[in-house]
Amino acid sequence: MDFIDLKAQQQRIRPRIEANIQAVLDHGQYVMGPEIFELERRLAEYCGVRHAVSCASGTDALILSLMAYGVGPGDAVFTTPFTFVATAEAVRLLGATPVFVDIDPATFNMAPEALETAVSAVAACSGDLTPRGILPVDLFGLPADYAPIQAVARKYGLFILEDAAQSFGAEYHGRKAGALGEIAATSFFPAKPLGAYGDGGMCFTDDDGLAEALRSLRIHGMGADKYDNVRIGINGRMDTIQAAILLAKFEIFPEELERRQKVAARYARGLTGVTVPTVPEGSLSAWAPYSVLAADSNHRTMLQARLKEAGIPTAVYYPIPLHLQTAYKSHDCAPGDFPVTEDAAARIFSLPMHPYLPPEDQERIMQIIVGSPAKE
Ligand SMILES: *Cc1c(COP(=O)(O)O)cnc(C)c1O
Repeated sequence: MDFIDLKAQQQRIRPRIEANIQAVLDHGQYVMGPEIFELERRLAEYCGVRHAVSCASGTDALILSLMAYGVGPGDAVFTTPFTFVATAEAVRLLGATPVFVDIDPATFNMAPEALETAVSAVAACSGDLTPRGILPVDLFGLPADYAPIQAVARKYGLFILEDAAQSFGAEYHGRKAGALGEIAATSFFPAKPLGAYGDGGMCFTDDDGLAEALRSLRIHGMGADKYDNVRIGINGRMDTIQAAILLAKFEIFPEELERRQKVAARYARGLTGVTVPTVPEGSLSAWAPYSVLAADSNHRTMLQARLKEAGIPTAVYYPIPLHLQTAYKSHDCAPGDFPVTEDAAARIFSLPMHPYLPPEDQERIMQIIVGSPAKE
């Protein structure tokens, strides 16, 4: 059994993928070819935003977005410690400071009340940090709670950069992930809801000025003329071949998203003995990945071992919260600082989740979990 079965998807659309790759080989525009602009047009339309700017990875999408705001030393960017390292890494690479905010225990996303507390503390402190932006993560494919986050952003004059790396296709009160901040960053790493055959990413925004800056920054800060560099940028372009592959995959993406909902609903109906994910009213998750909470860390170890014996792969996202990672530790952070995050990190694990998971396989997974309750 696969944790994510990319072969089943490929079998369905292989002729289309091959034809799209062939077209790139024929026209030979490997860098910034027509498929790049076609993909940007389609995904901007899908997300309901004016601009989509493709780039080399989700990490680059975060870096480019922060660069477009001119984030740098002395700036505080508020995010959660319960995320993939790239979220905070992008902030640190630019010399700014990630300020961590604990999560909501039901959704694993940034807790808006904790955000307000953290922002007001930094704003009140006469230190050398200035609140600049909020970087909420749509963890496991579920959008963060943007309405109260927006209220904090407005109150303190902060930008919102949505880390939508896991949530492409998700929704929050009628709006698509990618359209929930002033700017959003997504990833096309193969295991994400919409995955390429290599690395890729995209920024989304309605702001014309930010979009222009992003397009310049991804090509070494070029101006109107390619050899007139008006900013310090990076080589952050997406390969044309990846755009061609994504165009083929995007055709079946809406249907795949529906299949993911069915798989998630079957898990939610059948699982007992673990806490299944909560989807708040008005939200739709892209389910990447499907994560449940065991009773405690011993229970998690037992469940993962029993599933492994049966040939069922599982994973832990994320075993070490960012505030306890070697590279991100600071004197102001210690174990116990973010109790909700630390509790989740000790108990969480993820089950196989992809659009082609056969119901029989899912039954097997659920039987093992239901039959392995925590010891009293
Ligand atoms: C995957 C991921 C990223 C980085 O995307 P890459 O394409 O791998 O660079 C950033 N943030 C989160 C939350 C992710 O899951």
